Amino acid sequence: MAKIPHRIYLTEEQMPTSWYNLRADMKELPEPMLNPATNQPATVEDLYPVFCEKLAKQEMDNTTRYIDIPEEIQEFYKMYRPSPLIRAYNLEKYLGTPAKIYYKFEGNNTSGSHKLNSAVAQAYYAKEQGLTSLTTETGAGQWGTALSEACAYYNIPLTVYMVKCSYEQKPFRRAIIETFDGKIYPSPSDTTNAGRAILAVDPDTTGSLGCAISEAVEKAVTTPGCRYVLGSVLNQVLLHQSIIGLESKKAMELIDEYPDIVIGCAGGGSNLGGLIAPFMQDKLTGKANPSIIAVEPASCPSFTRGKYAYDFCDTGKITPLAKMYTLGSGFVPSANHAGGLRYHGMSPILSKLYHDGYMEAVSVEQTKVFEAATLFAKQETILPAPESSHAILGAINEALKCKETGEAKTILFGLTGTGYFDMTAYNAYMSGKMTDYIPTDEDLAIGFNGLPKIPGIQ
Ligand SMILES: *Cc1c(COP(=O)(O)O)cnc(C)c1O
Repeated sequence: MAKIPHRIYLTEEQMPTSWYNLRADMKELPEPMLNPATNQPATVEDLYPVFCEKLAKQEMDNTTRYIDIPEEIQEFYKMYRPSPLIRAYNLEKYLGTPAKIYYKFEGNNTSGSHKLNSAVAQAYYAKEQGLTSLTTETGAGQWGTALSEACAYYNIPLTVYMVKCSYEQKPFRRAIIETFDGKIYPSPSDTTNAGRAILAVDPDTTGSLGCAISEAVEKAVTTPGCRYVLGSVLNQVLLHQSIIGLESKKAMELIDEYPDIVIGCAGGGSNLGGLIAPFMQDKLTGKANPSIIAVEPASCPSFTRGKYAYDFCDTGKITPLAKMYTLGSGFVPSANHAGGLRYHGMSPILSKLYHDGYMEAVSVEQTKVFEAATLFAKQETILPAPESSHAILGAINEALKCKETGEAKTILFGLTGTGYFDMTAYNAYMSGKMTDYIPTDEDLAIGFNGLPKIPGIQ
C-alpha cells in the first residue's frame, strides 16, 4: 500500500453538514440540570434569561441525533476548516514505537484553538435572535479571542471577564480581543456584585474561571438584550465541537484507519467530547471498542480525584446546578499552575460516560507536560498549547507502552491549539522555575465542603 500522507485533509464537499449529539446514543442520560432556586430539574424556559433560545434548546435536547449546521456557520467553518489530520511520523520514529500516531490539529486559526468552532455557532444564534450584546469569561484567553472574532464577524458587542492572573500574564491576548472590539476586564472586577464580593474577601486573589463566570452571568442577566455564552462544559458546546471528531473519523476512513485509542486533554471537556463523539457512538452502539482516555492536570484533577455530584458551574453560585465530576466551585488551582485546564468541574456528558465506565482518565504533572510539549515541538515543528500538551503526553505514554508490548496500535489525539501566548509558562519551564503542586486531600476537602446540600439528592 502507498505510504499514508503526512497530512490528510477533507475536501469542502466531504465536510460534515451536521453536528452529532452524543446524548441520543447514550444508554443512560446525564442527570438533568437543577434550578438552584427550587432544586427541581431546570426547564428550557429557565435557561432563556441566561442563554439564547436556540442554544438553550440544544442544551436540553437529548434525542436529536444529528443537528444540521446552519449554512452560514458552514460557510464560516470553511474559512479555517477542515483542520488537518496529521500522521506524527517523526514523533513515532523518535520514540521508536510500532504505534501509529495521528493528531487532529485545531490551532490553525487566530484564536489558536478549537474554541472558534463553538464561538461562531453561539454568535450566529445570538444574532439570529436579535440579541444586542454578549458576555463571557475567559481563562487562558483562547475562548475570549475566539468569541471576539465571531462577535466582530456578526457585529455583536462583547464583554469579556478574563481571569486576573491570565490578564496580567498575557497582554497580547488582551490586545487581540481588543483588536476584534471586545471589551475586557480582569476578573474579579469591581463592575459586578459577584466580583466586588470576592474582592472584599480576598483583594489579592488571582481569580478563577468560576469567579469570571459569575461576573459574566451577572452582567448578562442585568443587561437588556444581553446573554451569556460559555466556551466549554455545556452540552451545546460539545455538540458544536463534534465537528472535530466527525472530520477525524472521515479522514481516517479515507486512509482505511480506525483508532484503537483516542486521547484528549480535559479542562471542561469540550474538545475531548467533540473529538471522541463519533468513536464513542461506535462504542455505545457496539460497532467498535476504542479506548478513550482523558488527560488532566494533577493540579486540577476533576475526573481522577473529584466527586460526582451536583455543583454550581461558577464560584458565585448563580448558575444552574449540574451533576458532574467536580472539585467544588470554590476550588482554585495553586498559583504555580501554568498549564491551563483550571476549571473545577467537567462536562456532565463526559462525567456520566466516565462514571459508567465508557472512558478512562489519567492525571499528569505540568513539568512532564512541558517536557512532552518541547519534545513534540522539535519533532513535529508545531509549538503546542500547554493544554494540548497534556494529550501529547498521554499519547507518548501510550506509544511507549506499545513499544514494550510490540503492539502496533493506532492512536489518535487532539492537538487543540498553539502555544504562542504561553511563552511565560514555557520560559518558567525552560529556566527550571516551574514546579509541580499536587493538591493534598486536605486542599481538596475545602472545595468538597462547599458542595451544595440538596435535600433528598445529596
Ligand atoms: C480551552 C482549551 C482547552 C480546554 O478546554 P476543553 O473544553 O476541555 O476542551 C484545551 N486546549 C486549548 C488549546 C484550549 O484553548
